[in-house]
Formats: sequence, C-alpha cells, structure tokens
Amino acid sequence: MSKTAESVWSNCLSFIEDNISTQAYKTWFEPIKAVKLNDNALSIQVPSKFFYEWLEEHYVKLLKVALTRELGAKAKLVYIIKMENTYGNKQPFTEKIPSSNRSQMKDQEVDVPLKNKSPELKNPFVIPGIRNVKIESQLNPNYSFDNFLEGESNRLARSAGYAVANKPGGTSFNPLLIFGGVGLGKTHLAHAIGVEIKEKYPEKTVLYISAEKFTQQYIESVKKNNRNDFIHFYQIIDVLIVDDIQLLSGKAGTQDVFFHIFNHLHQNGKQVILTSDKAPVDMIDIEQRLLSRFKWGLSAELNHPDYDTRVAIIKNKLYRDGVEMPEDIVEFLANNIKTNIRELEGAIISLIAHSSFNKREITIDLARKIVDNYVKHTKREVSIDYIQKVVSEYFQMDVDTLQSKTRKRHIVQARQLAMFFAKKFTKASLASIGSQIGQRDHATVLHACKTVDNLSSTDKQFRKYVEDLNKKLTL
Ligand code: ADP
Ligand code: MG
Repeated sequence: MSKTAESVWSNCLSFIEDNISTQAYKTWFEPIKAVKLNDNALSIQVPSKFFYEWLEEHYVKLLKVALTRELGAKAKLVYIIKMENTYGNKQPFTEKIPSSNRSQMKDQEVDVPLKNKSPELKNPFVIPGIRNVKIESQLNPNYSFDNFLEGESNRLARSAGYAVANKPGGTSFNPLLIFGGVGLGKTHLAHAIGVEIKEKYPEKTVLYISAEKFTQQYIESVKKNNRNDFIHFYQIIDVLIVDDIQLLSGKAGTQDVFFHIFNHLHQNGKQVILTSDKAPVDMIDIEQRLLSRFKWGLSAELNHPDYDTRVAIIKNKLYRDGVEMPEDIVEFLANNIKTNIRELEGAIISLIAHSSFNKREITIDLARKIVDNYVKHTKREVSIDYIQKVVSEYFQMDVDTLQSKTRKRHIVQARQLAMFFAKKFTKASLASIGSQIGQRDHATVLHACKTVDNLSSTDKQFRKYVEDLNKKLTL
C-alpha cells in the first residue's frame, strides 16, 4: 500500500501519543492536519505561528523520531501555518516554514514570503503634547507571574502570556485572548503580563482597563463631544489590556470605537491582550469583524485547576499569609472547591478569620461549615415520583405494575428499591413514602429499606441494581 500524508501522520501520532501526556497530546497534536506528502517531506498544517514555535521548541526531537520511523533518515517536515490575512484581502494565506532541524532535513521548500502585516503608519492625529502626559498603567502589582502558579489547566495561557511579556507586539499572538470561567485567573494573568512588561520595558506605555470602564469612558467622551480625543489617547498605548471583553456585547458604539483603536494598535505592532469569560465562538452580540480580529492571534483557555494545582495554590496562599494549616484540611479544601479559585481563596480567608477571631483551632468541622457556604449546592431535588419512574424504566415495567399488589419477586424487589431510594434521597417520612408507593404502611417501607441493605451486601446482582439506580438518580 502506498503511503499518504494521512497514513504517515496517523502512524506518527500513535507513536507520539504513547510518549507524552494526554493533555499535551490533545493540546499540541490533535489540532494538526496532515496536508501533503512529497517523497520524504510531510507537510503539516498548524493553527498558528505560536503553535509552530511551541512544537519546534518542545517536540522537535519527538517529531523527528516519529517521522524517521515512517519515512526513513531523509525525512523532512514542513509546517504550514494557517492564518487569516489581515488587511483588505480576505483570502486566507499560509506560511510555510520547514522544520528548523536542518541538519537532516535539508532541501527545504521555498519560503513563501509573509505579507507585511505591520506597515509603519505614522499616527496623523497625535495631539500636541500628549506624549508628555504620563499614563498610569492601572496595574495591580500583587498580580504577578511569580504568584500565578502553573498547572495543566493554565499552561498554554501562562506560557503564551509570558512570551508576550518578553516581546510585546513581537510575537504572533496578537491579540492574546485569555478566556475561561469565573474565578480561574484571567484578570490575574492579564495583570501579570502587564507587570512583567513594565519591569522589562519601563519605557513602554502599558494600560490595563476593564471593558466596563472603557465603555463608560467612551460614553462620557461622546457626551462631552471629545470622542476623537478618547480614540487618540488609546492609540498611543503600547500595550493595551482589556479585561472582560464579553461586556462589549450588544454595545455597538463601543465596539466600533474599539475596532478602530484595535486596528490602529495592531497595525503599528502594539500588543493587545484581551480576556473574556467565553471563547470567541460563544460570544454573542459582538460584531463579526471584531470577533474575527479576536481570532487573529492566540486564544488560550484557562481551565479548571486539577487537584495538585489546587493544593499548590492553597499552600502558596497560606505561605504568603504566614499561616499554617494541617495537611488534611488543605486536602479537604482542595477536594471540595474545584471550579473557582476565587472561592477557594475566599474559603481560606474565612477559615483563617474564624479561627483567629474565635481563637479556635482550624478543624475539619469548621472547614466543612465554611465550604458549605462557598460551594453552591446545585443538586437537583429528587422526587418520589421521579424515583418510581426511574426504577420502573430500569426494570422495564410501568409505574402501575411497580405499585401493584402482586407478590412476584422481581416486582416486589423493584418496589423495595423505589422505597429505599425514596428514603435515601428525599426528606419524606416512612409513612408518606409508603402512601405514595402503592398505598403501603410505614412498616412495609422500613422492611423494604432493611431488605435492600441486606440484599446488597449478600447478592452481587442485586448490588449492581442498587449501584446502577444510584447513578441514574444522582446524575
Ligand atoms: P477571573 O478574572 O478569571 O474571574 P481572577 O484573575 O480574578 O479570575 O482570579 C481569582 C483569584 O484566584 C485571584 O485572587 C487570583 O489571584 C487567584 N488565582 C487564579 N489563578 C491562580 C493561579 N494559577 N495561581 C494563584 N492564584 C490564582
Ligand atoms: Mg476577572
């Protein structure tokens, strides 16, 4: 069978998958498309220049081994970077970069020259004297890279942010869009990038602003009839950080003005950093032309932190506050607050406050009470009707049969299971459960609960019923 780009690449992928973590595989290899195979040269398409740089930096050896296994010692790899063209021309274009590992992989394809993305535009509008105005960056120095702990959940966003901080405007991730749910560190990371840039490039004008404040300023400027001054002010910024960009949704005027500012900054090689609680595809009521610009650079997601990262964040916080906390309580917190780092921090602060105000030790009991305040209980209320429905369906009978007076064993068992789960998942009394499940009395329900308990410890098949139903009811 002759080799195709797909077959070669798919073999490479199986090899690669076996050699790196699943997370890394998903992030860096799944998005790649095999495009072409010419003799010994495999062309792969990657989503961005950043992607290409990352692969070359971290995975070039692995790629080489994988490719050599497939295509022999003369194997070559050609990257094709998918990009949207920026100005005027809507045609997407690609940039080909042969792997930098040139010793073995010679005979490269000719590079297709990149269109000049940032023609030097002189700002024709500079207000005389405005450059002398010192612009306060509005950055919070407490949000730094040092205390933004790294984990699987934030690795891409954090590294991209760091790369941007090292070379603002000089990487292909412009804009850098950081997105993710509430309390996962978007604002922190955005500040950290700004703080780092200020440290490395003190002469650069960095400005952090929330989209909300930006909108207010804009409205104000329209009222005061100085919309142009507003725009000019933003156009002289070197690094513009706009937090919670999803708040521009539905605000056509603000979007329009932001569009012009964005274009100006981007064309002049200035860095734009955005955060959003949604991925660009999920943003609503944001103009298409603006959305398409958000996608020019890199969109990096902040995911829910894994257990180890949560533990590390807690410990780091405690360390910075000079507080000691028993290990089992740290673990308890990390196990119970999973989806929001702000809530995790809130719980720690309240725990410390409670224990110091009341001069009490930090105990698991106290931790449990506080966690209850922080974790929203969104468990769905399970009703007795619902339980009967689920149990009947599971045993493929109807609810009337389940409630009937018959003594057939499998029906009796189903009924007992319904009673057992009604006791377990609702606050109803035994009597009330009995009256709702086929007009039985409280003693029958009690007996049912005991029977289910007994059977599930002696009968394997029966235990499986209990487990299955438990799963269905708690979904
Ligand atoms: P978002 O803007 O996504 O809602 P924030 O940036 O306000 O979230 O983060 C919430 C809190 O969690 C902040 O106090 C922040 O310092 C903390 N935090 C988030 N991610 C990390 C991290 N990786 N390491 C340490 N602290 C973090
Ligand atoms: Mg925020």
